[in-house]
Amino acid sequence: MDKHRRKTLKALSAALTLPGIAWSKSGLGSPQTIVTGANLHTMDPLYRGATAFAVRGDRILAVGSDSEVLNLKGIGTKVIDAREKTITPGFIDSHSHPTMANEAVSANVNVRSISKVQQLLAKQADKTPPGHWVLGHMYDDTKFEEGRALNRQDIDDVVRSHPVMVRHRGGHTAVVNSKAFEALGVNGNTPDPEGGRFFREKGQLTGKVAEHAMDQFRGVGQWPVIDRQTMRDNVHLTSNRMAAAGLTSTTDAAGQTQSWQAYTDALSAGIMNFRLSFMPRAASDIYQTMKTANMRSGFGNNMLRVGAVKFVADGSASERTMRMSTPFEGTDDYGIATMSQEEIYSAVDEAVSNGFRIGIHANGDVTIDRVLKAYERALTNWQGPNPRFRIEHCSLVNEDLIKRIKSTGTIPTPFYTYAHYHGNKWLDYGKPRMEWMFAHRSFLDAGIPVAPASDYTPGPYEPLMAIQSMVTRKDSKGRVWGPSQRITAEEALKICTVNGAYASFEEHEKGSLTPGKLADFVMLDEDPLNTDPDGIKDITVLGTWLGGKQTHRA
Ligand SMILES: [Zn+2]
Repeated sequence: MDKHRRKTLKALSAALTLPGIAWSKSGLGSPQTIVTGANLHTMDPLYRGATAFAVRGDRILAVGSDSEVLNLKGIGTKVIDAREKTITPGFIDSHSHPTMANEAVSANVNVRSISKVQQLLAKQADKTPPGHWVLGHMYDDTKFEEGRALNRQDIDDVVRSHPVMVRHRGGHTAVVNSKAFEALGVNGNTPDPEGGRFFREKGQLTGKVAEHAMDQFRGVGQWPVIDRQTMRDNVHLTSNRMAAAGLTSTTDAAGQTQSWQAYTDALSAGIMNFRLSFMPRAASDIYQTMKTANMRSGFGNNMLRVGAVKFVADGSASERTMRMSTPFEGTDDYGIATMSQEEIYSAVDEAVSNGFRIGIHANGDVTIDRVLKAYERALTNWQGPNPRFRIEHCSLVNEDLIKRIKSTGTIPTPFYTYAHYHGNKWLDYGKPRMEWMFAHRSFLDAGIPVAPASDYTPGPYEPLMAIQSMVTRKDSKGRVWGPSQRITAEEALKICTVNGAYASFEEHEKGSLTPGKLADFVMLDEDPLNTDPDGIKDITVLGTWLGGKQTHRA
């Protein structure tokens, strides 16, 4: 925000307390919308108790009492009566993968039985040419009626003619069939690659593959090509779905050339209904292109902006492959690191020298320690403002790690819907360890502006489910995971708004309903801060507005 604007805003907010000012004659023009009578959570301490606000263009013009704001009403101003409704700033998601699910080329296997997955794969194989991959996505190994995971044999039973890959919704593991192993030339005796694993039982491949082992299949067979139009339409549909959940801003935490094209195409067509922070994936053409073109973190506008460059240093929380100092319950499996300490050092140095912010995926305590070492080293003689390095997920912490996250000004982005949604998986971590996972309470207590993060598709993106999850830490079966990490609904709402804006250096633009900021807001039929915490996720999102324009209506 420039100096002039800040001055004008100060004048505006000061004038708010003076009733009777003829705003429409002030030369600023009348607001197009005024919202009155709301149970309003502005998330700005200066505007506690306000019930109304005015919107002009894509900005909040004023916030105050009904009578103060109604004074601004001019010809053509639309007044929305929000009595008995709750209004909050638009929700922000600081880590997501909006284009990861693509129904155009892959079967959505988010179903509750293995036999249903088999039907879907058989159907997908029918419309796939020979030699081409048959793909499934949104697989979840812990949610089947059969009480077990999908395996190679299950897929072989229905598809033998094509290589098949069923990707876990977490993105770090998949289950493949025998044809896929044949294509890659892998059998029960093949050694695991560095940073990856072909899972076996009694020497036989189970079909489950993880991390760099999964990546190897990219090099064999015919993979589907998705055209530009399909990608653009995918952005449109996903942004509509996210708007319906109350999101106004999200993040692509592994951006590629194709997704950048899709966002810019959707934006120019006027059909992108969220603001997007684009984190280029380090191992992608787009990162190289951006470096060459001097498009650094921060480049762009309030609809599409370049964020931190994204690296991946270990496995997954929900798929149980993250690298920890203690093994998964009842095993001697410590998880998988996908970057060595040396690789992390050079990744950080290289990104910093190119003017990029950094976000490194690190779930396990061992990996988080490695990443912090690299951040501490990079900050030793740092000039200028703190770069707000990020640790993506930052799932398993301890007191030492929290201290170092605070002292480096690092922003953690722990999963916000996982405690609730992925309950079954936490059995593999055990109750004591869960007291240190997705440590929202510990981060807040240490004064760390922890960011809101769904990691969709691995996690659901719905912010109201996120608030419920962070408040209750209770899964769908009523089990509580890490109760010491519970936070209040107000703290959770602040994470999903104010802290989300801070995580992308946009706290002057959004995150609270403050005069001068973007008019991104949500209308709810109940107050998440004043309702049964077990019912927060069921609150109806009545409407969502992005820059003053309605993007969702229930
Ligand atoms: Zn992610």
